[in-house]
Amino acid sequence: MFKLAFFDAKSYDKPGFDRGIAGTDVKIKYFDTRLNEDTVSLARGFNGVCVFVSDTVSAPVVEKLVEYGVQVLLLRCAGFNNVDLAACEGRLPIFRVPAYSPYAVAEHAMAMLLTINRRTHKAYIRTKDFNFSLAGLEGFDLHGKTVGIIGTGKIGRIFARICNGFGMEILAYDKFPDASTGLNYVNLDEIFRRSDILSLHCPLTEETFHIVDAAAIAQMKKGVTILNTSRGALVDTDALIEGIKERRIGAACLDVYEEEGDLFYEDYSGHIVEDDTLVRLIAMPNVLVTSHQAFLTQEALGNIAQTTLDNLRAFRAGAPNPQTQVCLNR
Ligand code: NAD
Repeated sequence: MFKLAFFDAKSYDKPGFDRGIAGTDVKIKYFDTRLNEDTVSLARGFNGVCVFVSDTVSAPVVEKLVEYGVQVLLLRCAGFNNVDLAACEGRLPIFRVPAYSPYAVAEHAMAMLLTINRRTHKAYIRTKDFNFSLAGLEGFDLHGKTVGIIGTGKIGRIFARICNGFGMEILAYDKFPDASTGLNYVNLDEIFRRSDILSLHCPLTEETFHIVDAAAIAQMKKGVTILNTSRGALVDTDALIEGIKERRIGAACLDVYEEEGDLFYEDYSGHIVEDDTLVRLIAMPNVLVTSHQAFLTQEALGNIAQTTLDNLRAFRAGAPNPQTQVCLNR
């Protein structure tokens, strides 16, 4: 019997994992709580631990996991900035899910753009109340507009194909441009200057931190729509709010937010939310916020469960998958 402690478990996580372990000797205990220094003792007696981006695998947490005899850390996500890799090195093997559905994220980006532009979120509420007025619902044709895509990896390329289907002109920027994509690569200044819609699909690194800041916004076209389905800190939120107040930014669609940490994925309805910046953003009529849900499709959840359990099987068979193993120097 291999006992797996599954932290920050949500209702939508369980079906895929339960299906995946059916008929095997793996037993999963789902904990609603997040893994951190206060909750790590729950992992005592387990052979493996499974975590998400919202869990904190700091050095003291790793110390405890090793002390309890935990053999493997399974990340059911792509990112690992929440894990102290140095503390794990040589003591606690880590595996991740590098990709689960780039389509899910790219399609969500387009869903947000269509919603904010054509005001379907407002029309839905109006017609539910038998209010059939059209005042204030006008949008613009996407056809013929210029979309700037920053980061042309798996998700950015799919988003480009979707935009192509709408008849949009596509500009691209990537640190490592790939000519085989056939995309029209330009430099950052040009993409900021020429885009009617700007969509972020690059990872968060030291270089990309606040890639959309006050200086970038100052170059943008009046009325630009900004889409961020990548990582919150790619955008300087205070600068974004100023840009909206100055009417330079016409709309913003945010699936991620710099300070999303303790808020996103949880139900705070009925609470007073302390984050004034987020409250300000949500109160703006031309801002659409979703809580890091771009990945949330049946296909992505199925792939996450399958890859995580494949990682466990390969590890236990003594043949860990080098493609999914997280190493300090890679
Ligand atoms: P990917 O690795 O396939 O592509 C990332 C691209 O960004 C690459 O082409 C890379 O060359 C480029 N890049 C790297 N550094 C750059 C820089 N300094 N400037 C410009 N481009 C740079 O990744 P992906 O699967 O397409 O995912 C993109 C991002 O989407 C991820 O980093 C993650 O932050 C985000 N994401 C969000 C969700 C969600 O639910 N909202 C889910 C999955 C991924």
